[in-house]
Parts: sequence; structure tokens; C-alpha cells
Amino acid sequence: MSADARANLDVVLHAIRRAEKAAQREAGSVTLIAVSKTFDAPDIQPVLDAGHRVFGENRVQEAQAKWPGLREVYPGVELHLIGPLQSNKAADAVALFDVIHTIDRPKIAKAIAKEIEAQGRAPRLFVQVNTGEEEQKAGVAPGEVDAFVKACRDDYGLEIEGLMCIPPFDEPTAPHFALLQKFARRNGLAGLSMGMSADFAEAIPFGATHVRVGSAIFGSRSRA
Ligand SMILES: *Cc1c(COP(=O)(O)O)cnc(C)c1O
Repeated sequence: MSADARANLDVVLHAIRRAEKAAQREAGSVTLIAVSKTFDAPDIQPVLDAGHRVFGENRVQEAQAKWPGLREVYPGVELHLIGPLQSNKAADAVALFDVIHTIDRPKIAKAIAKEIEAQGRAPRLFVQVNTGEEEQKAGVAPGEVDAFVKACRDDYGLEIEGLMCIPPFDEPTAPHFALLQKFARRNGLAGLSMGMSADFAEAIPFGATHVRVGSAIFGSRSRA
């Protein structure tokens, strides 16, 4: 299916434009993050050749292996970290990524702040919210969002751009998108990272500014 990635990209971009229009949002107000995790350079290149420049990866090490080489060939790539972050990877994450979507605990906020200071390079930051309160899932609990965003700002000096969520697989996603939008508004945050292959069009009426789409572009993955 990866041979069709370029055609798939067009389909997804059109669906985004349609959803923007239906929601009476400005064309181009939603950024498509093409999630290339598990796919290698030859699978990613058709999407780069089509002119797309915004990509998402969920593992720091995997991204380190792929992207520096691709960036040399394709200038202007904007790389998003959408997977869980360990504090021992904070330095690598700050060095490589332009946007980090998974700030979710004080230890990570502190480690990222320290690296921004040390490296003089500041990725844009989103706080991940565990809207479904799932035990195994990363993210700040809904009841702790306001306090955590405030701590990021006041205690760690971090500028937070928005919120991110991954709704539970087995539930309708709209209530989760609505909840994230409510939290973002309440905290004066403009960014909303929500919506994946199955539901990105549904996230757009709730104000998604970034949709993270993998399999609808690159095909199904053999591992997560
Ligand atoms: C893999 C992944 C996606 C993309 O998932 P698809 O269903 O393939 O579109 C989006 N967000 C996160 C956090 C992911 O890990």
C-alpha cells in the first residue's frame, strides 16, 4: 500500500479541506502531521516528493535513525514527536524535534526546560491529556490539566502551545475532542492535536489544529 502513499496523501488533504469548509474554518487552519513511524525512507520519500513537510514519529531513536538523512535531501521538514518521552531522551528529543506533543509530567517538563536552556533550541510544546482516564495510557488526568499547564508555565518557564489526546479505541471520540477543546479554551491555549486516520475529520469541527494521520497515508503497520 505504501506505493500509494502519494495518492493517499491527496485523499487525506482533500478530506481535511472539506472538513475545514464544513466547519466554517479557514482553509489551511488544520495542519496534517503525516505519521511515518515504522516506515523507512523509501516509503516516506513519495510523500516528501509530493511536497509534504510535516511528519510525526513516536520513538526518538527511530526518528534519529531516519530523519537526519532525509532532512539533508528535503529541506524544511517539521518533525513532531507524538510518542511517550522518557527524561533520559529529553536531550535527543529537543535536538531533533520541532514540536513535542507528549509533555505529561513534572519530571519531563523539567528535563525539557533544562535542555531548552542548555541547547538554546526550543521545540513547540503540547501537553498530553489522558481524556479517557485509561490506566495504561500516558497523559495528564483531566482533573490535573489546569494545574499542570500552570506549573509548566510558572515553575518551568515553558511556553505551552496546546493540548493533545488519544481517545480510547472503543469509545466514540467526539466527547473526548470536545473535552480537550474545553480544557484548551479554559487555559488560553490555541493548539489542539487530535484526530487520527479513523477520525481526523471528526476532530476538525472541535477545533483540531493538528491531525496525526498514519495508516490512511502510509498503509497498515506491522507493529505499533
Ligand atoms: C500512530 C499514531 C497516530 C497515527 O495513527 P493512525 O491510526 O495510523 O492514523 C496518531 N497519534 C499517535 C500518538 C500515534 O502513536
